[in-house]
Amino acid sequence: SHFYQIALLGAGGVGKSDLILRFTQNRFEDCYDPTIEDQYTKNLELDGKAVKLEILDTAGQEEFSHLINVYLEQREAFLLVYSIIDTYSLEYVKKLCQMILEKKRDIPIMIIGNKADLDKNRRVKIEEIQEIAKLFKYCSYIEASAKLNFSVTESFIEIVRLIWKK
Ligand code: GDP
Ligand code: MG
Repeated sequence: SHFYQIALLGAGGVGKSDLILRFTQNRFEDCYDPTIEDQYTKNLELDGKAVKLEILDTAGQEEFSHLINVYLEQREAFLLVYSIIDTYSLEYVKKLCQMILEKKRDIPIMIIGNKADLDKNRRVKIEEIQEIAKLFKYCSYIEASAKLNFSVTESFIEIVRLIWKK
């Protein structure tokens, strides 16, 4: 069967929880509890195959160098999320990438630039992801909006496709 355990990582406030909420329940909340670390499941059909995803929502703690090793043991793939209006969140994703690359270059990675609806406040260009993405064997990147519901389902589908490619 096609059962995959994945996790969303990224700085606080980038929209990890809202992306999961949108994907699993087609909802959006303006103030989701930032401390929640929880697991969600979603069943979908892709290319005629039943896929079950177990999605870990992380809360971005301090000791993440330790945590990343734990996640790398337990999770099959990662969605790394930054916000296009927040350069710090891009640096955070780059740091995560470096830590992951030290351990597993072949883990499937989907990098999501969320809050793409806020284009007028944009601080990060999609091109800034290219270099780091190239270093992974199975990596795609996309801009999305949990708020307006664009490229959210696509992001989760793409991570499944990257897992299948591996
Ligand atoms: P997390 O800490 O990464 O889990 O971030 P949350 O999902 O809690 O979202 C943090 C804040 O960003 C909330 O106030 C959300 O309403 C807002 N937010 C999340 N996704 C989007 C988006 O796609 N567009 C906009 N404009 N705001 C968003
Ligand atoms: Mg959250």
